[in-house]
Amino acid sequence: MMITGKALIGGVSVKGNGSAFLAFDPTKKESIEPAFYAVDAAQIDEACRQSQAAFDPFRATSDEQRAQFLETIAQQIIELGDVLIVRSMAESGLPRVRLEGERGRTVTQLKLFADLLREGSWRDVRIDAALPERQPPRPDLRMQLIGLGPVAVFAASNFPLAFSVAGGDTASAFAAGCPVVLKAHFAHPGTSELVAQAIVKAVQLCQLPAGVFSMLSGIGNELGQALVRHPAIQAVGFTGSRQGGIALMQTAATRVQPIPVYAEMSSINPVFLLPHALANRANEIAAGFAAALTMGVGQFCTNPGLVLGIEGADFDHFAALAAQTLATAQSGTMLTPGIASNYQTGVANMAQQADVTTVINTPIEQGKGAPALFTTSGKVFLEQAELHHEIFGPASIFVACKDADEIRQVAESLEGQLTATLQMDEADTIVAAQLLPVLERKVGRILVNGFPTGVEVVSSMVHGGPFPATSDGRSTSVGTAAIHRFLRPVSYQNMPQTLLPQALQEDNPLGIWRRRDGALTRQ
Ligand code: NAP
Repeated sequence: MMITGKALIGGVSVKGNGSAFLAFDPTKKESIEPAFYAVDAAQIDEACRQSQAAFDPFRATSDEQRAQFLETIAQQIIELGDVLIVRSMAESGLPRVRLEGERGRTVTQLKLFADLLREGSWRDVRIDAALPERQPPRPDLRMQLIGLGPVAVFAASNFPLAFSVAGGDTASAFAAGCPVVLKAHFAHPGTSELVAQAIVKAVQLCQLPAGVFSMLSGIGNELGQALVRHPAIQAVGFTGSRQGGIALMQTAATRVQPIPVYAEMSSINPVFLLPHALANRANEIAAGFAAALTMGVGQFCTNPGLVLGIEGADFDHFAALAAQTLATAQSGTMLTPGIASNYQTGVANMAQQADVTTVINTPIEQGKGAPALFTTSGKVFLEQAELHHEIFGPASIFVACKDADEIRQVAESLEGQLTATLQMDEADTIVAAQLLPVLERKVGRILVNGFPTGVEVVSSMVHGGPFPATSDGRSTSVGTAAIHRFLRPVSYQNMPQTLLPQALQEDNPLGIWRRRDGALTRQ
């Protein structure tokens, strides 16, 4: 596979009619050839129309066919070999080991959805047989979930593989039977083209309609806006900034036909240091925290940006230990010059906040990020809303609260979060039990004695949370439940067997889970 700088529209490699732009190597601080060409309005329209035309034939494929499609994409990604890793290293500044791991995660994710399709519970089949003797007689009613339609997926800057072209949004949309029109992230256009070529090859090998997948590139809001406005698009998957996510939500909501946007945006992932854990394990917790904060130059949506404890010698000791480790941490190249400059602005703003003490704020060269650490009191944190905002990068604020009640008040004051972490020993159980109902209302994943960076790709994972962590707290973008973002229920009343979808027929050969008159069985 070669990088050509072209878009892929319905399986065809097409030079964009818009302006040219180059990929950028943030480590070497230089542009990378070849040039990419932004698509124009007509090309966006063509990709969306093809996705619409592909929807019915694609969703008519069997679960086994779509499972094989996902596995073929995984295989084609592996077959890209080192070319993919080398290119994504150049475009992201991320190290080889991280990107090889991310490729493994991408492949695992695709296979997880293949397994889900074969198991069949995702369809949520329900059958309530007719009761002709009842007065009035009950009709035969059968329900299943079907795909929503073409999905616009926005690739993320911070996961060039696992949340990008063939990432979780694309995998779950394909599993649901939805074609995907993907907006490549301008930070890694070459990586995007390689993975898009792998998907197109899989489409061909699996003999699917070409419009099942298109990849469009460009810089500036126009492409993304046009995509979300296009009448063929029926849902949006997005990972990025709060402003970007909200802008897309507004566009989607003001269409003639509004559509759902599943945006994963902003989270500061509070870590609660409960008193006994802090007294007994300050060293271990400080080391774990420093490692979690600095991993990948802090460019994770689950970065621990807020640490809370009860003021006193134990909290001070923990803060000193964490500061000591972070003071020696290396700066690292950030994903894009824009992300690095946002980070430096965020850190400078925090340093200027009243009653916030700067513990670490090492001057760094442009394009890089180094750990930044701040402290304040629970009272100040409760009064100053700006302290609650995400600084995307390795920055965190330690908040010393008066007592367990004030910790709970701070938890109550937080916006929706992807995660909350309890560092606790057994003797902290009562305090933890009091915090739990608040955290359940605020976050998507509650961890005990770990750190939030690192998101397992398994069926019970929730990578979501109330706004602004995501635009829809009922959803997750990781794990098999992610498929539900792109499905909707259809009920069939008194439908003859010959017209019923296969999963709803009496003699169902699929071997999938079905709920019949309330009882769940696998046929
Ligand atoms: P971004 O600016 O939100 O961009 C993400 C994608 O959305 C890009 O393809 C972008 O393309 C598009 N987009 C953004 N605003 C748009 C709008 N108003 N209309 C249409 N499309 C729009 O995110 P980013 O480039 O990844 O990073 C910028 C900042 O986002 C970071 O500094 C960080 O603060 C935050 N971020 C947060 C997370 C997280 O997980 N919490 C992850 C990544 C980034 P165009 O710019 O070409 O329109």
